[in-house]
Formats: sequence, C-alpha cells, structure tokens
Amino acid sequence: MTKEDDKVIPVRVALRCRPLVPKEINEGCQCCLTFVPGEPQVVVGSDKAFTYDYVFDPTTEQEEVFNMAVSPLLSGLFKGYNATVLAYGQTGSGKTFSMGGTYTSAQENEPTVGVIPRVVRKIFQEKSKRMDSEFLLNVSYLEIYNEEILDLLCTSKDKPVLSIREDPKEGIKIVGLTEKAVLTAQEMVGCLEVGNSARTVGSTAMNAASSRSHAIFTISLEQRRGSENSVFRISKLHLVDLAGSERQKKTKAEGDRLKEGISINRGLLSLGNVISALGDESKKGSFVPYRDSKLTRLLQDSLGGNSHTLMIACISPADSNIEETINTLRYADRARKIKNKPVLNIDPQAAEMKRLKQQVQELQVMLLHARGGVAPVSNININTTENVSKILEKNRSLQEENTKLSRELGEAVGQTAMMFERIIMTEQANEKLQGKLEELRAHAACKVDLQKVVETLEDQELKENVEVIRNLQHIILELQVRVTRYAMTSESPEAYTTQHALRQAQLSKELIELNKVLALKEAFVKKMCQNDSQLEPIQTEHQENIKSLQSAVGSLQKEKEELILALHSAKKDTNQAKLSEQRRKRLQELEGQITDLKKKLQDQSKLLKLKESSVRSVAKLNQEIQAMKAQRVQLMRQMKEDSEKFRLWKQKKDKEVMQLKEKDRKRQYEMLKLERDFQKQANVLRRKTEEAAAANKRLKDALQKRSEVAEKRKDVQSRGMEGVASRVKAWLLNEVEVLVSTEEARRHLQDLLEDRKILAEEISQLRQQMDSGERPVAKVRRRTLTISELEGKGDLEASISKQVENLETEMGLRSAQIADLQQKVLDADNEGRMKQRWDSITTIVEAKSALKILMSEVISTSKTANAKLESELKQEQANHIDLQKVLFDERRLMSTMEMEHQSHLVELEQRHQEKASVSEELEKMRELTEQNQKLKDENEQYKQVRESACTNAYYLLQSNMPGCTTSPPGFN
Ligand code: ADP
Ligand code: MG
Repeated sequence: MTKEDDKVIPVRVALRCRPLVPKEINEGCQCCLTFVPGEPQVVVGSDKAFTYDYVFDPTTEQEEVFNMAVSPLLSGLFKGYNATVLAYGQTGSGKTFSMGGTYTSAQENEPTVGVIPRVVRKIFQEKSKRMDSEFLLNVSYLEIYNEEILDLLCTSKDKPVLSIREDPKEGIKIVGLTEKAVLTAQEMVGCLEVGNSARTVGSTAMNAASSRSHAIFTISLEQRRGSENSVFRISKLHLVDLAGSERQKKTKAEGDRLKEGISINRGLLSLGNVISALGDESKKGSFVPYRDSKLTRLLQDSLGGNSHTLMIACISPADSNIEETINTLRYADRARKIKNKPVLNIDPQAAEMKRLKQQVQELQVMLLHARGGVAPVSNININTTENVSKILEKNRSLQEENTKLSRELGEAVGQTAMMFERIIMTEQANEKLQGKLEELRAHAACKVDLQKVVETLEDQELKENVEVIRNLQHIILELQVRVTRYAMTSESPEAYTTQHALRQAQLSKELIELNKVLALKEAFVKKMCQNDSQLEPIQTEHQENIKSLQSAVGSLQKEKEELILALHSAKKDTNQAKLSEQRRKRLQELEGQITDLKKKLQDQSKLLKLKESSVRSVAKLNQEIQAMKAQRVQLMRQMKEDSEKFRLWKQKKDKEVMQLKEKDRKRQYEMLKLERDFQKQANVLRRKTEEAAAANKRLKDALQKRSEVAEKRKDVQSRGMEGVASRVKAWLLNEVEVLVSTEEARRHLQDLLEDRKILAEEISQLRQQMDSGERPVAKVRRRTLTISELEGKGDLEASISKQVENLETEMGLRSAQIADLQQKVLDADNEGRMKQRWDSITTIVEAKSALKILMSEVISTSKTANAKLESELKQEQANHIDLQKVLFDERRLMSTMEMEHQSHLVELEQRHQEKASVSEELEKMRELTEQNQKLKDENEQYKQVRESACTNAYYLLQSNMPGCTTSPPGFN
C-alpha cells in the first residue's frame, strides 16, 4: 500500500492523565507521576521520563486538549487529509471521557464536553468560513466487538452484522452501514447521541463489552467546487474510542504474534503492529498487517496514508495502576516512533522539594522497618483503663449485692404470700368444716341418748351397732371442740426486711389485727351460743317449772278461793272456827306460796328476756364477723395483688440485669476479639512489610551487582574462553536474580497495595463514624479498643480520631514503601535493559557458554528444589494431617461442650423459673461460653495455620519448579 515517495506524517501522541477518581482516593492511592512544567514530559517514579507531543496533566480541561491537539487536525481535513483520533489506555483511564462518548445534548455547554462534540462544532464553523465550496457531510458510528461490526446508528431492533468490502476505487467500504447525511451541527451531534445511547444499552446488556469494544465515529467531508460542482476533495475523520488496553498484558502486547490475540482483542493487538510497522524507520516499506483485524482494516485509510493521526494516550495517575500506566506510556512512545532522550527539566526549587520528599519517604521506610512494620497501637491512657476497671469492679460488686438483696426480698415476699394464701385456705376449710359439724350436731342422731338405748336393747348385734353410732357421736363432739380450739389460735406475724415486705407487713399487720378481733368475736359468739345451748335445758325446765308453777299457782288460787269461800260460810258457823283457823293458815301459806311462785315466774321470764337479747347480740356479732371476714379477704387480695405486681416487676428487673450483664459480657468479648484481630492483622502486616523489605533489598543487591558486572565486563573483555565463561555466568546469574527478584517485588507490591486499600477503607469508615457520631459498628474490622466506649462519647471520638491518625501514618508508611519498591522495579524492568539483555552475547562462544550455564542452573535448581520441595511437601502433608486430627478432636470436643452447654442452659432455665435469681449459674454459663468461644477461636487459628502451611507449600512448589508452571519471564 505504501508508496516509497509518500511523505511520512508522524503519528502525534498526546498524553492525557486524568485526576485521581474517588475510588482511588478511597483506596489511599498516591500519584506516581510528575509533570514537568512547560515541557511535554512526564516522569514516572523518580527518574523515568517520557516525552510526547503533548502532555496534559490532571488539571487540564477538555477545551485545552481539543485546542492544542485535535484542532490542528481539522485544518488538514479541509485540505483533504484523512485524520484519525485514537483514544488509547486501560479501562477507566478516561478514553470515553476524553472522546465525548457519553455525550448528551444536556451537556452542550458544559466544560466537560469531550472531543467529538467540539470537533463537530469546529467543522461547522470552518465550513461557514469557506463560502467558495460546497460541503457534504456524512456521519457513521459503529462499534467493533468480538471482531463483529455493529451499526450504532441503525434504528432497527435486530442489528445486522456488517461486513467489510474493499473497493478498488473507493477503498474500504462497510456494506450496509448507515451513513447519515447531515446539514447542521445539531444533526451531527444528534447522531453521536443516538450512537452513544445504543452503545450504553449494549454495554449494560453485556458488561464487559464496553471495555472490549472499539467505537468509531466517522465524519466524511466531501468538498465540491467549480461550475460543474465536481467533487474535488473527500476526506474522512475517524474518532476512535479504543477498547481497554489492560488485557494486552496477557497477550504480550510487545510481541508481534497474532495468534495470541485470538481470544483477546485482536483489533488492539494488530493496531499496535500496524503502528510499529508504519512508525519504524527500519521497517519502512515492509508489509503492513492491516488485514489482521477489522479495526486496522477500517483505519487503513487513515493510518499510513494521507492521514494525520493523533493518539490520545489516557492514563491514571494512581500508583496502583503503575504497571498499566507504564505499558501505555511505552505503547504511546512507540506509536510516536521517536526515540526518547529523557531530559529532566525540573526547576531548582522543585528539585529540592523532590529531594526532600524522597528523603521523607526513605525515613518513613526506615521508621517502618525499625518498628517492625507496625504503627503503634493506640495508647489508651493507663489511668483511664484502671479507672474503668475499678468502676467495672465496683459495678460488679454492687450488682452482686443487688442480686443478693433482691433474692432475699423475693424469698420473704414469697413466704408472706404463701402464708397468707394458706391462711385463707385454712379459713375456708375451717368454715366448711364448722358448717358440716353444725349440721351433724343438729342431726337427730346426736340428740338420741344412745346410752339409754344401749341399756334397753337386748339384741346383741343391734347393741354393737348402736355402740358404733355412739362412738361416732363422740368423735363429732370431739371434733367440734378441736375446731373451736383451732379457730381460737392465730398465726404469729413474720419479720419483714425489704421495702416491699414492709408494705406487705403493714397490710399483714392489719390483717392480723383483724384476725385477732375476728377470733375474739367468734369466740365470744361461740361462748354465747354455748351458753345458750347450756341454757336451753334449764330454760325448758324453767318453762315447765313455770307451767307447773302456774298450774300450782292456779290450783293454789283455786284452793284459796275455795278456802275464802269456806271461811265466809264458816263465819256464820262458829262450830267450824277451828277449821276456819286451819283454813286461814292454809290460805296464808298458799298466798306465800303464790308470791313465791310468782317471783320465780318473774325470774324465769327475766331469764328468757335475757336470752333473747343475747341472741340478738350474737346475730349482730355474727354480722360483724361476716363483714370483717369480707374485709380480710379484701385485704388479702390486695396483698396478693401487691406481691404479684412486685413479682412481675422483679422478674422484669432481673431480666434487665441479666441482659445488661450479657451485654457487658458481649462487649468484653468483642473487645478481646478486636484485640486479637488487631494482633493478627498487625502480624500479617508486619510479615508482609518485612517480606517486601527483604524483596526490596534483594532487588537492590541484584541491581548493584549488575552494574558491577557491567563494569567488570569491560576489564575482562579480552581474556579468552575462561574469561568469557565466567563473565557470561556472572552476568546471566545476575540477570536471572534480577528477574526473579523483580517478580517477587511485584508480588509484594500487590500485597502492599491491597493492605493500603484496607487501611484506607478503615480510615474512611472511622471517619464516617466520627461524622455521624454513631457508635462503632462491630462489623468493621477496627482497632479501637471498646473499653473506651464505656467512657462516653467524647473519649470515644478522641480515640477514634487517634485511631484515624495512626492508620493514616500506617498508610503513609505503606505508600512510601510502595513508591520505593515501584522505583526499584522500574529500575530493574527498564525497557532499554530488556533490549540490551541479549546484546551482551555477541559471539557463538558466549552464547554456548550462556546456554551451558543456563542448562546446569536450571537442572541444579530444579532438581535440588524438587527434592527439597518434596520433603517439605511431605512434611507439610503430615502437618496437615496432624492439624486435621487436631481440628477434628477440637470439633468433637466443641460439639460435646456445646451439648453440655445446651443441657446446662436448659437446667439453668428451669432453675431460673424456680428461683428468682441465678446469677451464679449465669456466671458459670458465661465461663462456659467463653471457653467455647476460645475453643472456636483456636480452631480458627488451627485452620489458618493449616491453610497458610498449604499455601506456603504450594508457593514453594510453584516458585521452585519453574517447569511446572510458566517459565520465568524474559527468556523469550
Ligand atoms: P475509559 O473510557 O477509559 O474506560 P472513562 O472515560 O469511562 O474511562 O473514565 C473513567 C472515569 O474517570 C469516569 O468517571 C470519568 O468521568 C473520569 N474521568 C476520566 N477522565 C477525567 C478527567 N480528565 N477529569 C475528570 N474525570 C475524568
Ligand atoms: Mg470507555
């Protein structure tokens, strides 16, 4: 395609570094790039400089990028040159942002608008300036994904897959691609918008797509002039948002083998090849592999032809992306095909600053090493700790006392309640019994004089039966007596100690008073009744007496009247004087008798009256007794309610106390766990740091040796075969050492980056806590000691801010170490060195000895390493088995303990229901749980040990047996 006489137009390269994005900031990433003011130069690490046509630092606005780099292309476009703008870089480096691949019309006047919309605006501006010609503008927008071309302007639902045709006249054509003729800038930008949204839809459906697809927005410009209006110039502008370059690493982007790219992105790979073929002076005129991919075929027009091409190499400034950034820088460098001659043009002030910064960094690394890799643990004031533990101690003893007292209280109250319940019950039973007894007593059977019956009876059997009945009669009577006696006795009051018990005591005192009075009254009533019953026979007797007396009085009266009558008649008859004397006497006698009897009668009736009144008072008393009983029941109910209320309250309080205790326990445990976690983390971090430091040293030594070897080489240049062999050997072994230690350093770098990320996360979480004023969340891996939480919020905040400070120092140290290590890796992994690597072998003799050395080196290392590894593996396996056994045992133990714990728990639960307080048992339970937890943790540790042992073994295996996996890099 290329013609010998064609003027070579250099591919221009603009380097664009975006600012750190929030994600990187959150992960604690540092900027690893320096921009030289006033120079199109960027420095990676401390001294690795790259120069491009334009370098845009993170502060550069879109407008500047456009004006400086893109705008000049457009004048070429109007002159008939094809032009291409390629955005290259790893995913997330700002390609789409720079190109305007997310443009929507809403953004129209914003400064963040990317290249394409600005190009459109500019083209129409230019067009309006050139009135002498007629312009026809067409746009197309396509996407290449998986070597398939998709039309982004096609509106139909199922988009056809397009194919490329090569027309001898018109060049490359895409069959069926929508080419939209546009008249205004709005129309053109509208096409961009439509295509962008189509691209977005596609990439959400298939997430990986956007970083693996190329988007090409093409503007073709047809210029007509003259009377026939004939086309005199056709030019095309391709604006390309390339796929993310990071995948190229795996395909060895520097190699020019295509087959590796099949599964990855063929387009990007062949673009690289095309660019180097076009750019390399030495390859000038040789075959350019355009046909290797759709992308290069489509860009064929504009690459290497009459085209101005600009590559915008997008990079991230974050140190975590340093490898990708360097890859991009190298790729862009090659694209520019200009051999770099790194010149550091830094002004004196900046140089001093840089020196000081580096010194600080070195000091930080030293500090880190001196500390053994860990920042100090937050030093909580010892006094406060003591105070807290004292307070805790006091709290505990108070709680214990409280428990004891509540227990006593509960017991006393329980007893009281029980007693009163019993009283009520006995009372009721008593009443019933008395009722029954009364009934029985009233029963006719009791009234029969059985003694008499027995005496009169002759039948022996009947006699015996009656005897039994008589015994029953006795028993009834006896019972009655006993009941009376029982009712008379009253219970003695208990002494109450607790507050609640005092109230209860008051109530019970009232109750007892009441009982006493009641008992007295009842006794009184009983006595009265008894009196009455005793009185009854007398009464009847008296009544009979009265009757007989009355009849006697009547008969006496009669006799008297008769006598008086006789006396009257006798007066007339003196003969009868003697008789009448007798009669008078008798009369007197009778009168005396009558008055006597009358008196007696009077007495009797008095007695009767008395009885009546006593019955009345008994009834009244009984009424009173009933009222009092009701009152007593009321009182007792009140007491019962009170004690029930108290019981509930106490239950609640007990529960609360338990919960508090539980909380406290949990907190303490959490604290322990956090401390343990922290220790673990600190250990891991220290180990990693130490390892990284060791790797750093190893690399440094190797580099040192390399330069020494290089020096020596000059001396021994001419010393024949022996000299050659030893020189080659020293060089080769050193080279291997450099490579191996570089790889190792890379691995440690990755670790350090990861650690820093974790630290940064912790910091931001702590900050959030501080801002929101929340209590720390346990979920977060924290280093805060929870004990400080007990001391209120202010202290908590202080401790958090201290924590943040510590973590920040740690992060700073880690950043320093990262920068340090990256610098070493950069030194070792220099591109120039890679090229030079084999340059030192110039003769067959050298090559042969190198091969020999390599061979023996490989064999010896692999053999010895193999043997060593095998024995190690065996050991590790044995260890593994041992650990598994231990683990198994521990698990079993744990499960039995769990069961014990469960049963214990159940038991305790039961006891808890019986008793109000079970704090001691709980204490035991807590111990058990803690033991349990301890065992669990131990298990965890065993597991970890086992795992790390396995990983170690695996790593050893991998690193020492290169034949097993991949060969060490750099030997191709
Ligand atoms: P890419 O297309 O290379 O994968 P993007 O263009 O999507 O990357 O950019 C990734 C993120 O970085 C986006 O959120 C974008 O807004 C932001 N970004 C890129 N470049 C810049 C810049 N120059 N200034 C500010 N933010 C940028
Ligand atoms: Mg993108």
